[in-house]
Amino acid sequence: MRKQIAAANWKMNLTFQQGEKLLDDILGANIDLADHQLVIFAVPSPYLLMTRSEVEEEKNYYTSAQNCYNKKSGAYTGEISAEMLHSINVPYCVIGHSERREYFNESNAVLAEKLNLCLENYITPIFCCGEPLSIREANTQNEFVAQQLKESLFHLSPEKIKDIVIAYEPIWAIGTGKTATTEQAQEMHAYLRSVLAAQYGQSISDQISILYGGSVKANNAKEIFGSPDVDGGLVGGASLVAADFIEIIKALK
Ligand code: PGA
Repeated sequence: MRKQIAAANWKMNLTFQQGEKLLDDILGANIDLADHQLVIFAVPSPYLLMTRSEVEEEKNYYTSAQNCYNKKSGAYTGEISAEMLHSINVPYCVIGHSERREYFNESNAVLAEKLNLCLENYITPIFCCGEPLSIREANTQNEFVAQQLKESLFHLSPEKIKDIVIAYEPIWAIGTGKTATTEQAQEMHAYLRSVLAAQYGQSISDQISILYGGSVKANNAKEIFGSPDVDGGLVGGASLVAADFIEIIKALK
């Protein structure tokens, strides 16, 4: 079975102490994860080491960065490289979140560079894609998202593409309380899997986890994750409340 993943995206929220307490509360629930189920915490950079040590002893709980820079090293004050993340044993990194694309002008080409650096440094990228509302209203979302995949991922070899996680996050559903319907999510996920299959073959495509993101909550996670091509979620707002995120973890297939 494909990996089913509940990934928390804290974004720029919580103090260190609040983050520590949140992790304690979630881990304190002692949810028994099956071998194919993973929980990933994408936390602000200053909390990476704390998070890593909190989850270290826990089976299938992992730490993720929220971003890295698209250069190897050098005079880039304030930036964090994939090599630095690897040197503190961070196994995942979110790449291309729509907030990065929008506020920091990250293009598909820049994201391809970030992906390469992650993979060179043994970090699994959680690659985000998704269309804005205007594209959904024009009903051209499939072409739009396929182009994001093509320009950022399709230079990867079949061996490398297997090592990435994809998160489909329609921008109009992020932080708005407006979720894609189960049908809309399943339809896009199945389409993305067919695009991956056309490029890499069905068996590779079948191994890639595709998460849904955008207003996943405790009360809708089960239904959304229940779709055959939805392999869990990337969760913003609801990942900041222990009781809610615990329910979301329990909703994994
Ligand atoms: P949300 O955010 O769950 O608050 O909609 C999801 C995300 O941006 O990853």
